[in-house]
Amino acid sequence: MPSYKTEALVLRTAEMGETDRRLDLLSPELGPIRAVARGARKVPSRLGGLLQPFAQVRLLLWRGKTFDGVSQAETIRSFHELRESLEAFAYASVAAEAALALTRPDEEAPRRYRLLLYTFERLARGDRGEPVLAYFLAQLLRIEGFEPAWSACVRCGRPVHGERRFLPSEGGVLCPDCSLRSGQGEPVPEPVARLAEQLGRAGPRSAEALAVDPGLAMAAARTLARALSAVLDRSMKSLELLDIIRHDAEGSAEHGG
Ligand SMILES: [Zn+2]
Repeated sequence: MPSYKTEALVLRTAEMGETDRRLDLLSPELGPIRAVARGARKVPSRLGGLLQPFAQVRLLLWRGKTFDGVSQAETIRSFHELRESLEAFAYASVAAEAALALTRPDEEAPRRYRLLLYTFERLARGDRGEPVLAYFLAQLLRIEGFEPAWSACVRCGRPVHGERRFLPSEGGVLCPDCSLRSGQGEPVPEPVARLAEQLGRAGPRSAEALAVDPGLAMAAARTLARALSAVLDRSMKSLELLDIIRHDAEGSAEHGG
């Protein structure tokens, strides 16, 4: 059987059969890989110990019809910090789901891979999740060419100031006239739109230097997640997990949709 080597991030794992583990991997040069690690759930299993969610690994795989099989694995970075904190796990899960959902099979993904790695590194060193996630989503949308238009109306092109009406399905905001005429658009406070726009254009250093209020950052992350959901045409499952974990913080103020 032909085999190949690659570096990858483990983005999702699931149990398969009695002793196997199903893996969704992202490789910088090969994009998404659907793989299986045979015997990974036997105890003890060296492979099983390495192939945990969010681990960065170097792999030797054999090509299969539905799944590729993992023959050998070595850890580059385990990112155990992301599995030891429920909150870090939830933020990393949203980033992993978003990156995976946007990557087509056989499409190389070096920028997405680097962005994800950088996001895991920040979460692992204990940076607050809200601004990390907002930056990740803003950058992911930009890399993919889906950066929302925050400053000019998507219908008439006029500049928009103050509170905007965001229309995820059209990838940007409406001016008051267009919003009134169509009755469309969800209100987005000015600071949220400004932050989302700023994060889409900021490099990592300037993004980290921003002193962002966590509540504002989360509002920007939610708005950006709505933009992403419109692109994917489905909601993000992992965002529900994050909401459950965060419910005490701001859940009561939220009204979905
Ligand atoms: Zn307009």
